[in-house]
Amino acid sequence: MNSFPLTPPTPEGYDPKRDIYPPHDHAGYRWAMVVDMDRCIGCTACVAACYAENNIGIVGEARIIEGREMAWLQIQRYHDPADMARMTFLPMMCQHCDDAPCEAVCPVYAPHHSKEGLNNQIYNRCIGTRFCAQNCPYKVRRFNWFDWQWPAPLDMQLNPWVTVRSKGVMEKCSFCIQRIKRAHNAAKNENRAIRDGEVTPACAQTCPTGALTFGSLMDPESRVSQLIKDPRAYQVMGYLNTKPAVIYLKKVVQTV
Ligand code: SF4
Repeated sequence: MNSFPLTPPTPEGYDPKRDIYPPHDHAGYRWAMVVDMDRCIGCTACVAACYAENNIGIVGEARIIEGREMAWLQIQRYHDPADMARMTFLPMMCQHCDDAPCEAVCPVYAPHHSKEGLNNQIYNRCIGTRFCAQNCPYKVRRFNWFDWQWPAPLDMQLNPWVTVRSKGVMEKCSFCIQRIKRAHNAAKNENRAIRDGEVTPACAQTCPTGALTFGSLMDPESRVSQLIKDPRAYQVMGYLNTKPAVIYLKKVVQTV
């Protein structure tokens, strides 16, 4: 498993020896994120930004204990068994896989693979079977068990560009698709393509250490295309061949 190759979510990541399905035909863009774990300090500013940007329900401690958490992005902590004081932080969000296990099991096609590689969740199509959450190996899908409340004046903080989800609907990281759409409109009005760095999801915008980089893998000059050539690059559970579009750069620890 450790020798499983990096399988980018582009046609280059497909091999007829191990893939049944043909590659997706991405038109123009294939959005992806690179997470440098050497830079992540576990401050969780990205998580707070994601909550604010995407109108995520604040469920409270009791509901968290019941497993009803709604965070689209979580910071996972891993101790080094050789030195318990040493910790690695791993930001985990929807991996926007090219071969997404969630998409194949939904009876109503609510998880939809866009032509730009995004794993979109169509809220008004979702009937809440939760098969997708069951089949997601990364456990990043969140189900609304309740209609979460924003009593005044908290309702004033809701982002008007993002739908407030209701009870019975599955949700998860969208790579801040509302920001991608606005960049599309600006580029279309100026009759040009979206430039590298023009779209920045809320998490990447807020990260104080620059651990998160967002862009299109269809552009060979983009920062993400350059970063995934780093020998530290790997995909979480890449051996499942889901071809995640979130590619991590390993934290390298030198023992003295
Ligand atoms: S904001 Fe950046 S440094 Fe802080 S937890 Fe998120 S990814 Fe890590």
